[in-house]
Amino acid sequence: METADCVVIGAGVIGLAVARALALAGREVIVLEAHDCIGSEISSRNSEVIHAGIYYPGGSLKARFCVAGREQLYAYCDQRSVPYARCGKLIVATEEQQRPQLRGILEKARNNGVGDIVELDKDEIRRREPEIRCVAALWSPSTGIIDSHGYMLALQADLENAGGIVVFNSKVLAGSTSGGSLQLSVATDGDNFELAAHTVINCAGLGGDRLARAIDGIDRATLPAYSYARGNYFTYAGKSPFSSLIYPVPNEYGLGVHVTHDLAGNLRFGPDVEWIDRIDYAVDPRRGDQFYDAIRSYWPDLADGSLLPAYSGIRPKINGEGLPAADFRIQQQDEHGVPGLVNLFGIESPGLTSSLALADYVSSLPACR
Ligand SMILES: Cc1cc2nc3c(=O)[nH]c(=O)nc-3n(C[C@H](O)[C@H](O)[C@H](O)COP(=O)(O)OP(=O)(O)OC[C@H]3O[C@@H](n4cnc5c(N)ncnc54)[C@H](O)[C@@H]3O)c2cc1C
Repeated sequence: METADCVVIGAGVIGLAVARALALAGREVIVLEAHDCIGSEISSRNSEVIHAGIYYPGGSLKARFCVAGREQLYAYCDQRSVPYARCGKLIVATEEQQRPQLRGILEKARNNGVGDIVELDKDEIRRREPEIRCVAALWSPSTGIIDSHGYMLALQADLENAGGIVVFNSKVLAGSTSGGSLQLSVATDGDNFELAAHTVINCAGLGGDRLARAIDGIDRATLPAYSYARGNYFTYAGKSPFSSLIYPVPNEYGLGVHVTHDLAGNLRFGPDVEWIDRIDYAVDPRRGDQFYDAIRSYWPDLADGSLLPAYSGIRPKINGEGLPAADFRIQQQDEHGVPGLVNLFGIESPGLTSSLALADYVSSLPACR
């Protein structure tokens, strides 16, 4: 039986950020990752937006970690030369009846500590984004985009410089407690092995609920069973007419089909919300029809045939279809009953933006000290 001080399960952006924070705090850290590279699931299938922290319910972990994490992330990108752009975003109301929603968003943002968000008048909207049709808009200057893979590579480098390691092709199958430590059964390409650790952080993304269920002695009644909500993206086959990100007012499931671009200037639209019952990343080209309708509500000149199916990402939803979005859930022994184990559940958007703040929080929990 191998032993370790601290094991982080999953090398997505959350696992890497948590592992880095623990290693910088002086812990000996091993990250176990099922795939052969970092960030190959949710963390490489998102919008790469640094969110300001506008929409989340007051007092939620999402609001708190997004607002704090965003500033930490910009500072980290500067320090570690991770490419990003603070391009700002417009939130547009396309119908008069959406004005109260826009005012509600402004109020919520300010309550969350997003102090720089402002309403724009028509001239200012036209000056910034002449192609956009809307009746009113908010401007968020602290929203941006990031090279998320460059960010994860920087986190991995920090972890390794602090003495931590990432072990690839190592899937944790199950766990049990014995003699004050948590013993993990790990499947590899070759022989399987057992690893005992004092502290285990479950950052397994879409697999996090299943993994927690496979730990002996855990109180299963406290565990979520994820619903999967796929977010599909379409790319635009042409030159982008926009300089900022454009978001409609959000709907009950998500932020609506919005405009983002990557750092190379490629324009993409999405994600939408499609409830699915198993992990499957295929984008159905027929969903394009709904994209044209949604986008033309704020960009009427979108030409027929200009959208191409691109990629998708899957959200690990604690609450299923028809229910309000749940907060991030960070579960400790007092809830699930297993000493030394911390579960991170439902780390959907704004997880990328929140990662550094969330990692600081997790590394300060009693199980991690
Ligand atoms: C469509 C979409 C758009 C998004 N857009 C944004 C955005 O613009 N801005 C933002 O801030 N956030 C965004 N998010 C959220 C953000 O991408 C996630 O919060 C974040 O990437 C989650 O990272 P993670 O490390 O928890 O999960 P993952 O990146 O999925 O990492 C989990 C890792 O655990 C590994 N694993 C799983 N099970 C095991 C096991 N048993 N043993 C070992 N390893 C295991 C997996 O292989 C994986 O590598 C978006 C999410 C989605 C789905």
